[in-house]
Amino acid sequence: MTLDEARALDAADPLAHCRDRFLLPSGKIYLDGNSLGALPAATAARLGETIEREWGESLIESWNKHDWIGAPERVAAKLAPMVGAAADELLIADSTSINLFKLLGAALMSGDRRVILSEEGNFPTDLYVAQGLEALVPGVTLKTVPADQIEAAIDQSVAVLLLTQVDYRSGRKHAMSALNAAARDAGALTLWDLSHSAGAFPVDLTGNGCDLAVGCGYKYLNGGPGAPAFLFVARHLHDRLHSPLPGWMGHADPFAFDPIYRPIGGIGRFRTGTPSILAIAALEAGLATFDGIAMSDLEAKSRSLSQLFIGEVEARCGGAAQLKLASPRDPSARGSHVVFAHPEGYAVMQALIADGVIGDFRAPDLMRFGFAPLYNSHEEAWRAAQALGEIFESRKWDSPRFTKRERVT
Ligand SMILES: *Cc1c(COP(=O)(O)O)cnc(C)c1O
Repeated sequence: MTLDEARALDAADPLAHCRDRFLLPSGKIYLDGNSLGALPAATAARLGETIEREWGESLIESWNKHDWIGAPERVAAKLAPMVGAAADELLIADSTSINLFKLLGAALMSGDRRVILSEEGNFPTDLYVAQGLEALVPGVTLKTVPADQIEAAIDQSVAVLLLTQVDYRSGRKHAMSALNAAARDAGALTLWDLSHSAGAFPVDLTGNGCDLAVGCGYKYLNGGPGAPAFLFVARHLHDRLHSPLPGWMGHADPFAFDPIYRPIGGIGRFRTGTPSILAIAALEAGLATFDGIAMSDLEAKSRSLSQLFIGEVEARCGGAAQLKLASPRDPSARGSHVVFAHPEGYAVMQALIADGVIGDFRAPDLMRFGFAPLYNSHEEAWRAAQALGEIFESRKWDSPRFTKRERVT
């Protein structure tokens, strides 16, 4: 493909105008929105207003006057259609890790089964939270199996199947509906981590029969570093499940200061403490970058960008014999990031970053490129592939400047 052909795809792209919803540094190609979403153009003003007008002028009255108290549900309602949930099944709260603890704990407390079934390569925090529950609750066991053995491992002992829909390394996407059906047949609940899904492509929690889910606010949702996360509880479970981390904000009447905990009906019982209003305001600005956008257009663009990138990388780096696509080749089988493996992947990624193409590296040998369909262009995908080709051709990566490992992320 020529650069002009890539530009022609951008000219015909129905989402091209969305790039103006972000402030991106010039001279860089940012392909790490799957790790930290870009800064929305509206976020700074929105935070300024929340701080000066709401906090500064209305002070404590803001809990009512500016509906701070309803922010976790109000902002969840904006996210709900993007993940196929009803507004009252979703809550903005805490971090993904803490929400995992709350929902895993709730699933275990709802019955007598004691096995958490997960995947060996699941994201570490998901496994650590499960290990914490193993240590806390007598009899609880975390069982992990390779991806292709999950379905066979679902049996009558499993309390909850804990999976991340899109693998943070390879980008491989699980078949949600089939796994939910197998879990349902065995009487197990399902808990999906949507950290690499929400905001990248349409997720249908209800249509696929998911019981529980969590996800991250600072990746494709553009909520800012450490943004509040979300949690989903299917309506049929609302009265059956109880949070193992109850707090006054999930009480039926928080301002009665009742010494006995009584959970509010519905999703609100999964609140714990006071919501972080400034962080939720930034997340709301992040979600507003999706206003008026069909999730199906987002998915189509994600596939178009990543297929272009794979094709151009393979065309240019065919001589780098050790470079291998480590993601599924079929775009419907992966999320919105693409991974190439190379034994010198770390140094190659450092050289690429020095050339202004920002991806990231995951041990032992994976170079990860995230395509955020709201702001990445076909021209960027083309230029990133070209930059990678030049690095392999010149062996620019083979210098102590790039091979020395010191980066945090
Ligand atoms: C990014 C990510 C998280 C993040 O958890 P935090 O509690 O926000 O640090 C959790 N799970 C998965 C699968 C992720 O990709």
